[in-house]
This record gives sequence, structure tokens and C-alpha cells, in this order.
Amino acid sequence: MFKIQDQIDQGAISSYVSNVCPQGTKFHVLEVGWLECDEGYVIRGGNSSLKSTEGNSSINKRRELPMYCILIDHPHEGIILWETGCGKEYPLVLGPVLSDVFARVRYEPQHELRAAIAATGHRIEDVKKIIIGHLHIDHAGGLDEFLDRKDVEIWVHDKELRSAFWSVATGADIGVYQESYLKLGLNWKTFDEQTFDFCQGITLHHLPGHTDGLIGMQINMPQTGTFFFISDHCHWRDGIPQGWLARDYPAWFRSTQRLKHLERITKGQVIPGHDKETLLNLQKQAKVYI
Ligand SMILES: [Zn+2]
Repeated sequence: MFKIQDQIDQGAISSYVSNVCPQGTKFHVLEVGWLECDEGYVIRGGNSSLKSTEGNSSINKRRELPMYCILIDHPHEGIILWETGCGKEYPLVLGPVLSDVFARVRYEPQHELRAAIAATGHRIEDVKKIIIGHLHIDHAGGLDEFLDRKDVEIWVHDKELRSAFWSVATGADIGVYQESYLKLGLNWKTFDEQTFDFCQGITLHHLPGHTDGLIGMQINMPQTGTFFFISDHCHWRDGIPQGWLARDYPAWFRSTQRLKHLERITKGQVIPGHDKETLLNLQKQAKVYI
């Protein structure tokens, strides 16, 4: 427990980091394509004009959004996948208008979920459990690879499953959620606790705001310590309020406070949903996290 002992020495509360994955647990970071959109979707007030700049010609800023998944090889649970990326057929599923708004600008053969998993030495057929932070297409679209896999458990927060199915059924939030992977036949599993011990070493935290049922995954690794993968609770590290993609700002603010507290009492690393620099650093730091 090298890194976790360091975290405790730096002031982490030991009970928050004591649920450690068993020796032999490994995780891989899988890059599964890049999106791009107007900054206004992901930063509050992005690309808005000011009195002092009125009349100036300006070019709207755009943001690159890498997509990633985490493949965990867990001695007791088997292969666990954290999120799935957008799925191979993303532009077709979204249609021409929405895939112009959230354009997939990089999708090479190695970004396909099946290929990205194969590059770790595992097979997509070996995945036993999938945990989804939230069910927007860029995180859950890859569930289309599992539509006939009754043996794979798909774990989400109860509120996320309800709001995703409701959004598609009524058309209330169409676009970000899509029917193509929100299928009744998948082996859905839900929980409704704010904090849920998923298995040895992995705890799930409900962080509503970006969506009703968004969750973050805390994983305490035997050697490399504590990580929080927070889906789109934050798109970037700095926690700037979200733009047009935010749904419930007061809930988001409360979740941000909770997450900052968790970060302080664990001394863990927070990994946002689409931060280019954080992802490149993670890829550079290690090929496999142990
Ligand atoms: Zn996203």
C-alpha cells in the first residue's frame, strides 16, 4: 500500500482509503475517440459577448473532448469496464445535425472499444461488469456492443436509469440520451445509495447535477493509490460551472463541494470526463496501473 500510506501520511482519513483493491488488481486507460464542440456547451458563459467587446469580430472558441474508459482486471470480480465511450456508429445514431454540434473529430481503428480492449490483452467477451457514470451517448453509446450479452451486468445509479429512459420515452432530453443502447433487454443493475461499496477497492459516489443520477468511481489501488473517475461531473480539472450541458446547477454545486471534501480527506486524484491534459498525463504516467 505504498501510495495509500503516503496519502495517510499527508492527512488522508484512513477509513476513506482502507477499502483497497486486492493485490494483483490492474487498470488500463483506454482512449476511445475525440469529440469537439462549441465552448458554450461545456463552460458557463463560454463564447458570450461583453459590453466592452461589443462590435468586435470574434471567432467562437471550440473545445476538444477526449473520450476514455477504464478497464479493471480485478482478481475477485473479473474484468470490469468503467464506461464505454460513444460507440462505433455515433455519427449515424446522432444524425447529421447533432453530430455537427458534437462532432467526432478523431476515431481511428484503435479507438474502437473492441480494439482498445484487445490492446490490453483482454477480449470484449471477457467483460463481466460495466459501471456507467451517466448514460449520455459519449459515455454509454458503446453499450451497443453488449446488446445480446445477458451475462454482463450494467451498473448505474437508480436515478440515472429512470431519467435516461424517461428522457428518451418522452423526448424531454433527446439527443444526449439515445434509444439505440437504452434497451430493456440489457442486464441493468441499480443502487440508490449516495455512497455504494461496489466491491473490494471500488466505491461509487452519487454526484447529481450534470445529470440526475451521475456517479463517480473511487478506486483505491494497492500501489498507485486513490483515483476518482467522475464522468462529466466536471469536463475539466478546474471545476468551472458547466455550460448548456448542465441540467441542475444547485445539485451540481452541492456535488462539487462533496467531491472537493472527498478529495481533501483521501488525497486522491480526480480524473474529469474530458480533460485532454489529464488524460495525456495518465497515459504518460503508466501503461498499466497497479
Ligand atoms: Zn461526456
